[in-house]
Amino acid sequence: MKPEIVYTVKEHCPYCGAGKEDFIVLPPRREGLIDGPTEDNAIVTLIPAFCKKCQVAFNYQTVKQESIDEILAQGKYITTSSTNSNSGIAYEPFINKIEEYCKKDDPIVEFGCYDGFVIKELLHRGYSNLLGFEPGPYFDKSLPIKQTFFTQEGLEKGAYKAIVSRNCVQILPDLHALMKACNYGLCDDGILIFQFMSVLAVHVLQEYMFTVSFIDKLMQDHGFNIIKLEAPVRPYHYNQYFTVIAQKSDELLEKPLNRPLKPYFSEKERLEIFNEAQEALIAPTFADSVRERLHGFFAKHQQDEIVIYGTGGASFSLLKEIGDLSSYKLKFVDGDKRRDGKVYIAPDGSKHQVIHSSCLKDTQVKALLFAVFDRNFKIEIEAYLKELNCQIADYFYIGG
Ligand SMILES: [Zn+2]
Repeated sequence: MKPEIVYTVKEHCPYCGAGKEDFIVLPPRREGLIDGPTEDNAIVTLIPAFCKKCQVAFNYQTVKQESIDEILAQGKYITTSSTNSNSGIAYEPFINKIEEYCKKDDPIVEFGCYDGFVIKELLHRGYSNLLGFEPGPYFDKSLPIKQTFFTQEGLEKGAYKAIVSRNCVQILPDLHALMKACNYGLCDDGILIFQFMSVLAVHVLQEYMFTVSFIDKLMQDHGFNIIKLEAPVRPYHYNQYFTVIAQKSDELLEKPLNRPLKPYFSEKERLEIFNEAQEALIAPTFADSVRERLHGFFAKHQQDEIVIYGTGGASFSLLKEIGDLSSYKLKFVDGDKRRDGKVYIAPDGSKHQVIHSSCLKDTQVKALLFAVFDRNFKIEIEAYLKELNCQIADYFYIGG
């Protein structure tokens, strides 16, 4: 059954409550309703906006929560996942960060566990005191994960050394409740380790799109200081992910530990990042040089079959740039077995059946598009293709 898509428009900033007069409404964006192939999918039009008061970006026009819930309840949401690969290479930096800051017996909470990969991997690395929160059904029930939302009620006061989350905070509508819960659960020396998608990642499931400067504000507003920010040099939004480590300041402590509340960015820097981020959300997705290369690649292989490797957000962005796909011979493959046989809806509305990438065994491919942004993913795919004895004559990867 096709999900009925009902749109909604926000009257107030979801973070600070400012009214529409404080919004900077950005151009509409076409995105897949579900990020990845499924039985039914649709193209939706989202409109991002910035709030001038608090500088957060959010989905101004978005799909009604009931429509999203219906999709999730039908178990159709197959997101980019650790199970795309055996090694979980995209999770490595995040898990390594936890390992850098936490001892093996430290009590650690993860929320937004999705398929439980982080918890599983931490257990594998010898961590023994873990607790996860995940409302979805996708994880192995033998893992120490509660199938519920992350709330203060689910935590023990001051009991945890770290609260960690990857790629989840931006989908939570109530950031104030989140930060309050984190303060409640963390011990005085506790830390937050959060990984975020860049501001450019706009999706229907997200409430927010974050800039590094907004995260600084979020932490400051709730008594936390960023003690480490891992992002490339400015402009930060070109990074797919950024990682923030934050700690309670004296404001939240009963006994001060000489940790005054201290912003990471100056007001001037925040404003600059705010302006850069707006430009980035308005600008075409890719730099001119990348667009030229991408169009050149498709033009060159007009007569060939082009293998599109990857059927998530990256393929959507890349194919959005191409536009009408009807004159190309495309073959969509993906390493995620759960996507095999499912239908991928391209940005131009055309539908394509996804085939598991093992179909490339002992083949010669004239043209292959690496539909991934993360270089680690690309390296992993290359190694897999080699294993399959698949020869690639020509390829496109966004990173060259
Ligand atoms: Zn606001």
